[in-house]
Amino acid sequence: MVAAKLSDKQRNQLDLSTPVQYLKGVGPAKAKTFAQLGVRTVGDLLEYFPRDWIFAPAPMKIIQMRPNQTATIVGLVESVDYQSYRRPPLFEAMLSDETAMCRIVWFHGGFLRDKLKPGQVITASGKVASYKHQLQMTNPKFSILDRKDLDPAEYFSGGVYPSSSQLSSGQIKRIIAPLLDNLAELVPEFYEQDLLSEAKLLGRKDAFAWIHLPPDQDKLAKAKRRLKYDELFLMQLGLALRRYKVQHFSSATPCVCSEEIDRRIRRRFPFLLTEDQDACIGEIVADMASSKPMNRLLQGDVGSGKTVVALYAALLAVANKTQAAIMAPTEILAGQHFLSIERYLKNSRLRRVLLTRGLTGQKRIKLLDKIGRGQIDIVIGTVALLQKDVEFLNLGLVVIDEQHKFGVHQRAELRKQATPHCLVMTATPIPRTLAMTAFGDLDVSIIKHSPPGRGAVITRWVAPQNREKAYQFIRERLRAKKQAYFVYPRINALEEACPEHSRGNGEVKAAVEEWKKLSAEIFPEFAVELLHGQMPSAKKHQIMAEFRKGKIDVLVSTVVVEVGVDVPNATIMVVEGADRFGLAQLHQLRGRIGRGQAKSYCLLFAESDSDIARSRLDVMTKCNDGFQIAEHDLRLRGPGELFSTRQHGLPDLKIANIIDDFDLLVMARKKAFELASQDPMLIKPQHKNIRRALLEKFAGSLGLADVA
Ligand code: ADP
Ligand code: MG
Repeated sequence: MVAAKLSDKQRNQLDLSTPVQYLKGVGPAKAKTFAQLGVRTVGDLLEYFPRDWIFAPAPMKIIQMRPNQTATIVGLVESVDYQSYRRPPLFEAMLSDETAMCRIVWFHGGFLRDKLKPGQVITASGKVASYKHQLQMTNPKFSILDRKDLDPAEYFSGGVYPSSSQLSSGQIKRIIAPLLDNLAELVPEFYEQDLLSEAKLLGRKDAFAWIHLPPDQDKLAKAKRRLKYDELFLMQLGLALRRYKVQHFSSATPCVCSEEIDRRIRRRFPFLLTEDQDACIGEIVADMASSKPMNRLLQGDVGSGKTVVALYAALLAVANKTQAAIMAPTEILAGQHFLSIERYLKNSRLRRVLLTRGLTGQKRIKLLDKIGRGQIDIVIGTVALLQKDVEFLNLGLVVIDEQHKFGVHQRAELRKQATPHCLVMTATPIPRTLAMTAFGDLDVSIIKHSPPGRGAVITRWVAPQNREKAYQFIRERLRAKKQAYFVYPRINALEEACPEHSRGNGEVKAAVEEWKKLSAEIFPEFAVELLHGQMPSAKKHQIMAEFRKGKIDVLVSTVVVEVGVDVPNATIMVVEGADRFGLAQLHQLRGRIGRGQAKSYCLLFAESDSDIARSRLDVMTKCNDGFQIAEHDLRLRGPGELFSTRQHGLPDLKIANIIDDFDLLVMARKKAFELASQDPMLIKPQHKNIRRALLEKFAGSLGLADVA
């Protein structure tokens, strides 16, 4: 081993929080480079896991190489040559040692052009083949050796680290290696032997040793599994404790439901609640009866009847002499909620208001004052409005409607108020994996089936040559007094596409231009209007109202206006640039139609017919179940694109992956929640090490400082 052993003194001083700068071989300059890689402390370094591993046999001389064997050689790069004209293009290097010369070939090796240069000494490990009677190595793993240190022993097995131009994988390896002698103190065991055997987990110390320097593939796999488990376990424990904290260190007003109250609330609804709605209400009623604040997520497709459930909860809060706030992500949605709630509350004495940005001056001051004195029962507004300036006298319940935007999920942080019960609604079905992580500290209620009497939605992917036919079809429906939505990825052609929609380079249809074309050329005999997020809100409300009344036949919009609109007569949805939308988002858009009894049609136009676009749109045409679609989306795009873990205060996972490691996630979650209920302050001596690790990782992000 090239790297120096640590002296006893150094060893005693070393712990996970020691800055890397104090390690042998790292000075201030390297410490800076490490910081750019996200490594500041010894703990970070131990968790700076290799991105790949080499299991190479001991090096041999080039002359000893034989065909069909896997060999490792060390030599000088004599020459390099990139042959881009070959199919596939190949990168070739001639490598010599004191015994012979050998040709090395990398197919598709263009990336090596700025990497491998004559004069370098490299080690290469791979399969030996015979080509035109000469031995050559094809696509070997390789690393470039440091000229000042040509003892290659340490390069022949172990990790390949994500490196930077100033810090090579080999250097990183040499800095980490001596730490591995000291693992017993650095990474003490978390769990008791029973759990380790039951869950078939490797010891923590061995896991760290083997992830960096695996003796073989099998041991590497065991090490990965253990470290993934720990990562998921700590995350879940953080969530479990956060939940415990909310439930035990803050209190809400208990809102008790009686038969009388239940009867009075139900009288407001002109229909019988569905079984799913009833079940969700049952769960909410049980939560709200307690002084532990409710923290519940209500999931259900657009149109599945969540608003009714939320209104039930709000009425229950009011019946218990508290106020309720309903928060929506946009003004339009808040307006929608207000309108639909108005329908149910006609002739009721309930005092309810819609708080809009348009409300200013004295009127606003008066209204806020009334809310502060408890003279308003239900306040509906955007998240921003309600969080910014409203002070309630006695807030019993907050409903947060996230519609499509899960990820913005801010817990109600209304000023100065005692913790209210909290109900988060989302229309984007959240795959189980995300429900267990991003929303892992919430209880979940699901409305699976929409109310009866909905017409089917037929989804078609329209090929470019059928565009005219599609317009003709739409014209017929419009003549039959049906209404249509046209949705575009952007507002106008000049505007920068928002990053989410900017994949690919195809022309992006822009709402403004297309609106002009649709109204002048394609549907001149119909009323075609434009709606987008940058319009003044009064104008938006006016257009929505006219569409609802049927005065507008075709509503052209961007998704910026994610409307939770409920216009049963709108039975056509056209999505342009459909390949640019996420599946969950398309499903969401499609939820605007199919609200009445009539059959509805969702027509998707795509700008690309790549395989990916094809497979995504195929999912849309075949599948109507939001949960399945969300799972597909998660698989196709990864959790990162669907939502940001950071927004939820969750740490980035370094080794585990919530999709691929779902089984481990489930297991870790169960154990973490058990532990949190047995020892919520983690004060038992056997939990000392877990507690320390948890605080190191989460103290800030999960607000767990007070566990300490
Ligand atoms: P969501 O908020 O989940 O999008 P809504 O609560 O707005 O759904 O309900 C969509 C439509 O279904 C509304 O027109 C509502 O009146 C109707 N609805 C809700 N619950 C029922 C029910 N149990 N039976 C019949 N219609 C219902
Ligand atoms: Mg709704």
